[in-house]
Amino acid sequence: MAQTVRSTQDYRALDVAHHVHPFTDQKALAGKGVRIITRAEGAYVWDSDGNKILDGMAGLWCVNVGYGRKELVDAATQQLQTLPYYNSFFQTSTPSQIELGKVLAEVTPPGLKHFFYTNSGSEANDTVIRLARHYWRVKGKPTKRTFIARNLGYHGSTLAAVSLGGMSHMHALDGQLLPEFAHIAHPHYYTQGAGLSLEEYGLKAARLLEEKILELGADNVAAFIGEPVQGAGGVYEPPPGYWAEIQRICRKYDVLVVADEVICGFGRTGQWFGSQTYGIDPDLMPMAKGLSSGYLPIAGVAIHDRIWKEINEGGALAHGYTYSGHPASCAVAIANIQLMRSEGLVERVREEIAPYFRKCLQELAASHPIVGEIRGVGLIAAIQLVKDKQSREIFTTQDDAANFCRDVAANNGLIMRAVYQSMVLSPPLIITKAQVDELTEKARKALDETAKKFGLQKL
Ligand SMILES: *Cc1c(COP(=O)(O)O)cnc(C)c1O
Repeated sequence: MAQTVRSTQDYRALDVAHHVHPFTDQKALAGKGVRIITRAEGAYVWDSDGNKILDGMAGLWCVNVGYGRKELVDAATQQLQTLPYYNSFFQTSTPSQIELGKVLAEVTPPGLKHFFYTNSGSEANDTVIRLARHYWRVKGKPTKRTFIARNLGYHGSTLAAVSLGGMSHMHALDGQLLPEFAHIAHPHYYTQGAGLSLEEYGLKAARLLEEKILELGADNVAAFIGEPVQGAGGVYEPPPGYWAEIQRICRKYDVLVVADEVICGFGRTGQWFGSQTYGIDPDLMPMAKGLSSGYLPIAGVAIHDRIWKEINEGGALAHGYTYSGHPASCAVAIANIQLMRSEGLVERVREEIAPYFRKCLQELAASHPIVGEIRGVGLIAAIQLVKDKQSREIFTTQDDAANFCRDVAANNGLIMRAVYQSMVLSPPLIITKAQVDELTEKARKALDETAKKFGLQKL
């Protein structure tokens, strides 16, 4: 049965009347109206007015294999026809749940061979918190409960995941964090590294973790969690030596290492996982987004052999979701991973398209008056907007250059995301060189308009 097709105006009126949007000032939006996305193919989406827009964000960092992939649609259809749903709570399992575990174990880093399925990255991180505390209890160290995370870290939006995250505007919604969560500064050489080499800065930034562990007492600390590259906070890649030092500190004080791979996983950084790009050996590894390329919701936590033994000794795991390992989502995830393998998408990112993408963005930065630096790795990037390249003065929240730039870009056929005063990009892994050229040109135009608006046209 075909869905009713309405005019943009009707869609907008109904949207205002009934739809509560995540992360949106709806009162401000009501006057302007949402953009209605109606279809998509490859690296492009179309809106209800027929505008074709290059999706520089792969949906929300997730459509890694691009839109319109028949293999994924077929996998879901077949599974829904055969067995649309069954649970895995009561001594039962389904073939697609079992098969996904086998396929995942082939691509995850060594030792991460046990998988718990959830529906979202937030639920994966709630699961991480429960697993880590359970692990320490079984090990006879029940006081090890506190999680240390980073400012501007993003780990999701459930009550526990938001406490893990380091977003003050999200904390403000509840008024306060849950107890037993602590944060350290995120690394950002461009604004914090003055007078230090990159390597010196990397060690300095990592040692904040040691200070925090000593302050809290190692007997109270369960785990450190970080995204290999911080994503939603504004794309901060770790300085050289940072993760090695973080890991050394964690092992020294008996603190679990959690790599939140929700964005970095499944090829984004040019390896299957960001942990491989940065030599991280995590005990727990939440993943989501690229796992199914967003075609259906599925996420999970990979558990390392070395901590699985204790968890497995601890009796029944009193934790789970009705849709843990939903058969159709598992089938899509399997098809997604198989497609990534058969098309060599991870190698393509690493060897071909990411180097080109980064070269184009670096050229843009060098020639543009309001671009301070390009951050990121692989196919994830941030373009830092600055008022002054020499002094590295960043636009203020009042200026709000980034939201202006985002709107100009969207009206000109490119989706970028505005995060604080940076423009963030995370295109589908199938983006072609010609599309990277298109992206760069459209980004340049939006930056030109932004420079003009803020009176900063000269280098
Ligand atoms: C998006 C994201 C999450 C949350 O995932 P949801 O599916 O939105 O709940 C967690 N961690 C990271 C690193 C993310 O980018």
